Amino acid sequence: MKPLQQLLRPNILALKPYSSARDEYTGEEGVFLDANENPYNAPYNRYPDPHQRRLKRRIAAFKGCESDQLFLGNGSDEPIDLLFRAFCRPGTDNVVAIDPTYGMYQVAAATNDIKVQQVLLTKDFQLDVEAVLAAVDEQTKIIWLCSPNNPTGNCLRNEDIERVITGFEGLVVVDEAYIDFAPGRSLLPRLQEFPNLVILQTFSKAWGMAGLRLGMAFAQPAIIEVLSRIKYPYNLNVLTQQKAMDLLEKNQQEVAKWIEVLLAERSALAQELQKLPFVNLIHPSDANFLLIRTPDAKAVYQHLISQKIIIRDRSSVSLCAGCLRITVGSPEENKQLIQALQAYK
Ligand code: PMP
Repeated sequence: MKPLQQLLRPNILALKPYSSARDEYTGEEGVFLDANENPYNAPYNRYPDPHQRRLKRRIAAFKGCESDQLFLGNGSDEPIDLLFRAFCRPGTDNVVAIDPTYGMYQVAAATNDIKVQQVLLTKDFQLDVEAVLAAVDEQTKIIWLCSPNNPTGNCLRNEDIERVITGFEGLVVVDEAYIDFAPGRSLLPRLQEFPNLVILQTFSKAWGMAGLRLGMAFAQPAIIEVLSRIKYPYNLNVLTQQKAMDLLEKNQQEVAKWIEVLLAERSALAQELQKLPFVNLIHPSDANFLLIRTPDAKAVYQHLISQKIIIRDRSSVSLCAGCLRITVGSPEENKQLIQALQAYK
C-alpha cells in the first residue's frame, strides 16, 4: 500500500476538524451551557455523542474488532461518499468499480467529479482480476468491490478479492451489505492482514433497521480517523444511537431466526419461480434477493405493479438483459408474489 499521506487529498490531510462543544467534556452529569441547546424538551434537546463511544464499543465487541477500526455512518451510503471525498481529487483522480454493481458508487463518484473505470464481471458474475488490475492507472485511488454483489446476488470469490487487494497500492473497498446472508464469507476476520482494505456493512438488511440509517466501515485506525474527521459532527442522531443499542441487545436471536427464515424462503421462492414458463433462469444468490431472467422483463414488472407488488427492473443494467430483482419477503408476501406471477398472461 502507498503511504496514506500519498493517497489522501492534500486538503484533507491538512484539514483541522470541527471541534464540537461536547468534545472537551465527556462526563454525563453537569450543567450544560456550552452548546447553545435549549434546556427544555429532554432528551431531544441535547446533541448526540459525536464519537458514538458507547455504540461503537458495543458494535466492535459484537463484530470482534477494536473501536478504532470502526466508523459508524448514516447508512453505509455515508462512508461511500466520505471515501470519495477523502481520497479522490475532483476532476483528477479516478476509481475502478465492477459492473454491474450497486449504483451509489457511481452517484457518489459523479457528485465528487470522479471518473469511474468500470470493469465487467465475467458471465457468471465473478471478478476478472486481471482486467480489474489492468484498469488501474497512476490516478486510481480506490477499487470498489461488492460481495454479495447487488444486483447479481452472488458472493465474489474471496481468493479473487484477495488478489485485487494485494495487487493494488490504493484502497480496496469491499461492500458486504448482504454478508449476514452468506455466513463464513466475510473478510472482516482478516482485516488486520490488509492495510488497504475497507469493509462496509450495514444494519439495513439482515438486522431490519433500514429506517434507522446505521452503516459501518471497518479499516485500519488511520483510515477510520480520516473518515471521522470529515463527517458531519452529529451524523448519527440520538434516536438511532439509542435504538441501535437497544436492538443489538434484544434482537440478536431474532435476527438469526429472520436470516434462517429468509434463506429458507429464498429456496422455496426459487423453486416456485422455476415452475413459471416465462422464467428462463434464476441466478444463484448469497443475499436476500433473487435475480431472475425472463424474455419480457418490463411486461412482468408492469403486471406486478398492477397487482401492487413492486420489484426492481434491472433489465437495462450491464450483463442483466431481461433481469428482474426480487427481494425475498415474508412467507405471506412471497405467496402473494407467486400467485400474481401465476396469473401473468
Ligand atoms: N451497499 C449495497 C450493496 C446496497 O445494496 C445498499 C442498499 N441497497 C447499500 C450499500 C446501502 O445501505 P445503507 O442502508 O446502509 O445505506
